Amino acid sequence: MREIERLGPRPMLEVIADCGGWDSARWDLNRLLYKAQGVYSAAALFSITVSLDDRNSSRYVIRIDQDGLTLPERTLYLAQDEESEKVLAAYRLFMERLLSLLGADSVQQKAQEILQLERQLANITVSEYDDLRRDVSAMYNKVTLGQLQKITPHLRWKWLLDQIFQEDFSEDEEVVLLATDYMQQVSQLIRSTPHRILHNYLVWRVVVVLSEHLSSPFREALHELAREMEGSDKPQELARVCLGQANRHFGMALGALFVHEHFSAASKAKVQQLVEDIKYILGQRLEELDWMDAQTKAAARAKLQYMMVMVGYPDFLLKPEAVDKEYEFEVHEKTYFKNILNSIRFSMQLSVKKIRQEVDKSTWLLPPQALNAYYLPNKNQMVFPAGILQPTLYDPDFPQSLNYGGIGTIIGHELTHGYDDWGGQYDRSGNLLHWWTEASYSRFLRKAECIVRLYDNFTVYNQRVNGKHTLGENIADLGGLKLAYHAYQKWVREHGPEHPLHRLKYTHNQLFFIAFAQNWCIKRRSQSIYLQVLTDKHAPEHYRVLGSVSQFEEFGRAFHCPRDSPMNPGHKCSVW
Ligand SMILES: [Zn+2]
Repeated sequence: MREIERLGPRPMLEVIADCGGWDSARWDLNRLLYKAQGVYSAAALFSITVSLDDRNSSRYVIRIDQDGLTLPERTLYLAQDEESEKVLAAYRLFMERLLSLLGADSVQQKAQEILQLERQLANITVSEYDDLRRDVSAMYNKVTLGQLQKITPHLRWKWLLDQIFQEDFSEDEEVVLLATDYMQQVSQLIRSTPHRILHNYLVWRVVVVLSEHLSSPFREALHELAREMEGSDKPQELARVCLGQANRHFGMALGALFVHEHFSAASKAKVQQLVEDIKYILGQRLEELDWMDAQTKAAARAKLQYMMVMVGYPDFLLKPEAVDKEYEFEVHEKTYFKNILNSIRFSMQLSVKKIRQEVDKSTWLLPPQALNAYYLPNKNQMVFPAGILQPTLYDPDFPQSLNYGGIGTIIGHELTHGYDDWGGQYDRSGNLLHWWTEASYSRFLRKAECIVRLYDNFTVYNQRVNGKHTLGENIADLGGLKLAYHAYQKWVREHGPEHPLHRLKYTHNQLFFIAFAQNWCIKRRSQSIYLQVLTDKHAPEHYRVLGSVSQFEEFGRAFHCPRDSPMNPGHKCSVW
């Protein structure tokens, strides 16, 4: 720690010098783009990633997408309401503070120019709210390098990608463009913006990504910005900052320790059984659906059968030498900033190498200690890390009502993602392929429309929830709750009813719903709600609970809610 404080801005000044310093009009733009994207892993103007090809999930492909903003949503730059004006003012101040700490000249002018360019990028960025960003087939544009060069003539693609990937790509190499219009306009923007300003913007993107690793004045500046955006009043304790960084840069190594202490083989087997039970219920419900025709049902069933499930942790974690392989970069006690750069560079290398490798379907996107779970449409795969398979969500010794209401509804949620407005666009092998008949798909969309309207009517701190933006998550919440509930009823049929809990007035069916609600128990400040509604695909937690339970018959029955009361409306939305 003392060393970090002693060095102050110096480690970053070296990075800035490596990027040609501020105000350089001589540096080649492509060279700086390579530094930003390929060395420091900072998206600037756009992002370049290696991902599974959405139309051929057995191979990796280079993917280019819009990504040039520092603030998390384009509308924050457009200052359309009081809250976003405040955020924008805080961001400007943050820029000026950081630039001053780094000893840059004409700080205000520089901040103003960079902000102006980011605002121009915000203007051409398509919001994740937009229907355009929800239709993957329409976004997907596979082009050759030669074609890409014609679409965006003011960049030197072959040179840039050759540098980043250490390859000699041919003109026919295919890449996937997810934001064609945006990239065309970026190319225009490059032509019309003074070189010096573009250069400063690119350097700024590198600075902003790395500044959290510098001395306390830098961390304080970051905290000031976070305070305006999220309402957090105290900076994070140093111990937590360190743990967070260890988690980010050595996730699997930490995970090995975590799993050793907190996750047994018996737990793994039990959770796997739980997943199978919930999958079985979905299979059963598919049969009963009246709005889906036989042909679509057969495809939906096939998707269910093919769905991969990973529980707990990846197998390699039990072999120390395999864990070592994940971290083959230099680390020294006295060179914190350099360690971070080494880690970034190493993961870049792993990522770019994938482009010529076969797809490994067993890789994990999260370390096992993560308190999270995910469904990956292009692998048709659900993953439940050991971190989420813990109390209060799951405990092998809990009553089953709590386990089904807790982790069971999460499992049901991830499973339903395979059939929501996004995941439903992918087939059983993870390819972007329409497997619905037109009649069934239009009935699905009509049913989904009911959920859009339901959530559109929720407000929190005067903020309206966006029903369309949160649709996939809401479909998954409503579906997951039902699947877990019916799976619990099946368990009760097979094992007999559970004993009432001593001195507790609730039945086990009620406890199931209480456990579900506790999954989303959280306290938020108004600033954080503003940002959440703007950027998060999940509805605010309060409505994840109320929205889901109010649309489920069995909730009304369990708690004796009168028909047509707010928690038991006569007409309910239902997809799965
Ligand atoms: Zn989800």
